[in-house]
Amino acid sequence: MSKIVFFCIPAHGHTNPTLGVVRQLTNLGHQVWYYSYNFLKEEIEAAGANFVSCDAYDTRQELSPEESARLGRDLPFSIRILADTTLALGDVVCRHMAQLKPDCIVADSMAVWGKAIALKLGIPFVCSTTTFAFNRYSAQIMKQSPKDMLAMILSMPKVNHQIKRLQNNGYPFKNILDIIQSDENTHTIVYASPQFQPCSDTFPDKYAFVGPVIRPSKEQIIKKKKVLIYMSMGTVNNDMLPLYLKCISAFRATDYQLILSVGNIVDRNQFRILPDNISVFPQVDQIAILKKTDIFISHCGMNSVSESLYFGVPLIMLPQTSEQCGVARQVQRLGAGITLKRPSVHGLLSAVQTLLRDPSYQNHAKELSEGFKKCAGVRGAAEKILQVCDRTE
Ligand code: UDP
Repeated sequence: MSKIVFFCIPAHGHTNPTLGVVRQLTNLGHQVWYYSYNFLKEEIEAAGANFVSCDAYDTRQELSPEESARLGRDLPFSIRILADTTLALGDVVCRHMAQLKPDCIVADSMAVWGKAIALKLGIPFVCSTTTFAFNRYSAQIMKQSPKDMLAMILSMPKVNHQIKRLQNNGYPFKNILDIIQSDENTHTIVYASPQFQPCSDTFPDKYAFVGPVIRPSKEQIIKKKKVLIYMSMGTVNNDMLPLYLKCISAFRATDYQLILSVGNIVDRNQFRILPDNISVFPQVDQIAILKKTDIFISHCGMNSVSESLYFGVPLIMLPQTSEQCGVARQVQRLGAGITLKRPSVHGLLSAVQTLLRDPSYQNHAKELSEGFKKCAGVRGAAEKILQVCDRTE
């Protein structure tokens, strides 16, 4: 039986798909250790893994709310935080790995410390990618704006300084690409179907496109109207009161049911008086709701979009980050949704009406759903990890 160590960042969206894989591995009798954060402990242990807390080394705790909002948007700042976390965790994890002698490390593409430690100690490595996989072909489709490119070029001196810090501590990263993307020789699990991943035929066999992992729903949702619209801006940057209020204004006088998941930060006193067709929650069972939803208004986090398409639900897309813009672009290209750059009350209502009037959006969402359901899923992801465990490369 194999010993496998997982690393992930503190985010539901990046952790959720891996939990099904962990469950698959532990059900097969393999041992899994999972380095993560206390708020995810219960779910990780329920999947059968030994939870190892990284909270004491979480350099993000010292960040102000403004700084936290820069993560994922400001490249040099994000790389600095990744380097800080790697250096904070490195010694203690290296000692644990020396004692444990794992057969393989599986790290989220953004949990750079997992890859850094695997490279430093020569442990077989699998990258787990909850976003689309990048190579020079897919990068063209996921294209960055000239403004993003310029910002990236200008930030290189600061990024290179962080790479030097890592190199000085024995972590063999050569350049920014080693940090932000998987190369052709890295075994990589991508939670997208080959149809949904841009340019999937240009990736080598080391890439397994296993499709989304959909966790079971825990609740039963009763649909109150013929049309149910669900809105969520995800679990990370969801402090968006003006947007939620616009959405409520757009649908308050309609015969559509609207469910909003608004997160824990936004002041819910603002939603005290709501019409009967609208309900607001800090958090919902998204899978249960999507089973009954006609249209999902989403920030285009990869998990939300995959879950929506899995249930054949077309999207109105309000992407906030360049990664989310890339996901929205691909959904729009495949005809399963509409992107609103500056959502207004009128724009939201008119996008819903377009999606309800034109069946092609739902048909394309259903085609993608069929592709997702044919994928190897957690079984394929576990097989990839076990192949790497059994191989000496
Ligand atoms: N989610 C949920 N309930 C909510 C809001 C979100 O269960 O009320 C889940 C959703 O199903 C998805 C994850 O949280 O699995 C969000 O991940 P995504 O990649 O879409 O966005 P992020 O939160 O990382 O921005």
